[in-house]
Amino acid sequence: MSGKSINLEDIWPQERDFISRPERYKYVRKIVKPEGCVFCNEANLGPKGKGLCIFKSQQAMVVVNKYPYNTGHLLVLPIRHVGHLWDLQEVEYSELMFLLKKSVEIIEKVYQPHGLNLGMNHGKVAGAGIPEHLHWHIIPRWNGDTNFFPLIAETKVHPETLEQSYEKLLPEFEKLEI
Ligand SMILES: [Zn+2]
Repeated sequence: MSGKSINLEDIWPQERDFISRPERYKYVRKIVKPEGCVFCNEANLGPKGKGLCIFKSQQAMVVVNKYPYNTGHLLVLPIRHVGHLWDLQEVEYSELMFLLKKSVEIIEKVYQPHGLNLGMNHGKVAGAGIPEHLHWHIIPRWNGDTNFFPLIAETKVHPETLEQSYEKLLPEFEKLEI
């Protein structure tokens, strides 16, 4: 992605402030979702496209999260627009699990975190932001990193930009054979 700017506005959901009742100057925060599914859009763009997809195989892909909880936050997901684990075919599931493992190995190599959170929120009620397209989170963790994330203030410190994370991880994903 060197030398090209990323315009993710058309792909990823955006957080926007709206005035809901102008007389009271009350602002509400809404998530504005663009046309179609963000992950399907990313799949169509593929690696080194204008999006954040960093690796794509026949059945699964890896995407750098636009809204990272920590540096190096990746998403691993099926190419197919599937919202339930039980709808995945065996071949999709095995490629996903393979990519999940490989992504962890790459994060380990590139960032040397002290630990990792791996998980999936299955369904809206479980906290999935985009429940209609399954995605696993890989979140690198460092000792004391919670100090950087004042959850109440919604202010997160990320020592690295998305572009930097992408550039750092891409060479390792380019070596990956599936
Ligand atoms: Zn989708």
